Amino acid sequence: MASARVARLRKHGSSNNNLKDAPPPDKDDDKNGNKLEKYDFLTTIGTGTFGRVILVRHKQNKEYHALKVMSIAGVIRLKQAEHVKSERAILETINHPFIVNMSWSYHDNSFLYMLLEYVPGGELFSYLRNAGHFEVETANFYACELICALEFLHEKSIVYRDLKPENLLLDADGHLKITDFGFAKKLWDRTWTLCGTPEYLAPEIIQSKGHNKAVDWWSLGILIFEMLVGCPPFFDDNPFGIYEKILAGKIDWPKYMDLIAKDLVKKLLVQDRTKRLGNMKNGVEDVKNHRWFKSVDWSDVWERKLVPPIVPKLSHAGDTNNFDEYPEDDWKDIAEAPAEDIAIFADF
Ligand code: AMP
Repeated sequence: MASARVARLRKHGSSNNNLKDAPPPDKDDDKNGNKLEKYDFLTTIGTGTFGRVILVRHKQNKEYHALKVMSIAGVIRLKQAEHVKSERAILETINHPFIVNMSWSYHDNSFLYMLLEYVPGGELFSYLRNAGHFEVETANFYACELICALEFLHEKSIVYRDLKPENLLLDADGHLKITDFGFAKKLWDRTWTLCGTPEYLAPEIIQSKGHNKAVDWWSLGILIFEMLVGCPPFFDDNPFGIYEKILAGKIDWPKYMDLIAKDLVKKLLVQDRTKRLGNMKNGVEDVKNHRWFKSVDWSDVWERKLVPPIVPKLSHAGDTNNFDEYPEDDWKDIAEAPAEDIAIFADF
């Protein structure tokens, strides 16, 4: 049943960026150039559509970080400049226990860089695929930490818009960290951009009706279902098939599904966003007060006091065993971006 889903292309697209050694310092900007020179570039731990994430280690204090590197040419070609700028601007202003922290951003003539805390446990996606599906308590734990992060973001008028197990990492203790704010957006009302991953799109995004934070509550419903069942409620071999199923709204509920969780998922997967849990008068409180979270002390969640159900196996702080291996190409081959493209990222 889940074959299409299992075979789903992970968002890591191929990349033309060739990265290997530390980038050369930007001759025109000693201060920022020195930022990169302070790090040893170790290994690629993830790839995205126009770049990659590299484990780096500070030469002096030996601390590990994840450096997200994106090619300016790739970002421009795929018309993602606004998304990337928004990702950086949002990460710069937020700090939360369940959101990956950014120390600084920088650009040279070919690349954009964001220095992130290294989250060594790898993607929740991998643990979920290995387990098939999670126990109720396990799914409940991740849902709690996510709700806490979504509450924080929504209070700041930030919609995350790309909730899925590939974007959720486990830290060394097993707590969640949301990464990839490429689709996150600060908004005051509604936004109209079509973005996200097909299986996780809310009906109002597909219908281009304009959308707000309600889309994150929809995706939370999809995520809880996927954690408990092992595949998302709406899936197909092609995105249009998925969209049709989302709009039709018919869900096959497995018999073994926890009934209280099913009730919560049903209330999150309500087509009419004005009646969707999390997006009504009482906002996030309706979600937190649902019976599935009856025994949860929400201040404990925030303080990372819940006991993580999975503790990643790690031999040392820079262990990359929880990530896939990626080819390390020669980064120096990449050409400089045209001046007008570099100028778009002047404040990056
Ligand atoms: P992104 O382009 O931000 O989606 O990142 C691509 C992949 O790199 C993610 O799916 C993770 O597997 C990995 N990754 C991203 N950020 C981090 C981080 N801060 N620590 C560890 N791995 C990360």
